Amino acid sequence: MSQTLDDVLSANQHYAENFGDKGALPLPPGRRFAILTCMDARLDPAKYAGLAEGDAHVIRNAGGRASDDAIRSLVISHKLLGTLEYFVVHHSDCGMLLFSDDIISGLLEKSLDTAVIDENGWRDVGHGPGSAAGRYVKWLTIGDPHQAVVDDVRRIREHPLVAPEIPIHGYIYDVKTGRLMEVPSAREAGRPRL
Ligand SMILES: [Zn+2]
Repeated sequence: MSQTLDDVLSANQHYAENFGDKGALPLPPGRRFAILTCMDARLDPAKYAGLAEGDAHVIRNAGGRASDDAIRSLVISHKLLGTLEYFVVHHSDCGMLLFSDDIISGLLEKSLDTAVIDENGWRDVGHGPGSAAGRYVKWLTIGDPHQAVVDDVRRIREHPLVAPEIPIHGYIYDVKTGRLMEVPSAREAGRPRL
């Protein structure tokens, strides 16, 4: 058994032993909102937004981007599970700022092993074969962090399956302070349209 698997299962055993009455929680989120945020390991939405089990939906991907699949989850969240408000939370120092579609596709073409980054940029040190399949993926990297929040809020707002009365809030989480900072131009983009 891997050490990681061992650690996870033993942590879970401890969690389950102290599960209390959470087995009685209803399926729809009690506080009726959803957060779309980055998978970055430094972000803990339950902590930065004060969530307990059963409170809210948290949808995570690389960058916290409004991909088709993130929007699929947000639509289900409202349409079937009653959430009434969305948050898009990106963050400072996001890894999605550090590469382009061309860079990751090039690295993957050389090998599938983990690449390294130094002052000269990304470098592949793995053993091939890689794959050119990455050339067909839209990786949703980030150029300007504020603009990316506005773009994602706007994309959700303008999606035909997103209810116009849902407010969409756009924020950047500061990994140095733990603070959520509003992206001012996202406010207009995310305003309910009734
Ligand atoms: Zn990130």
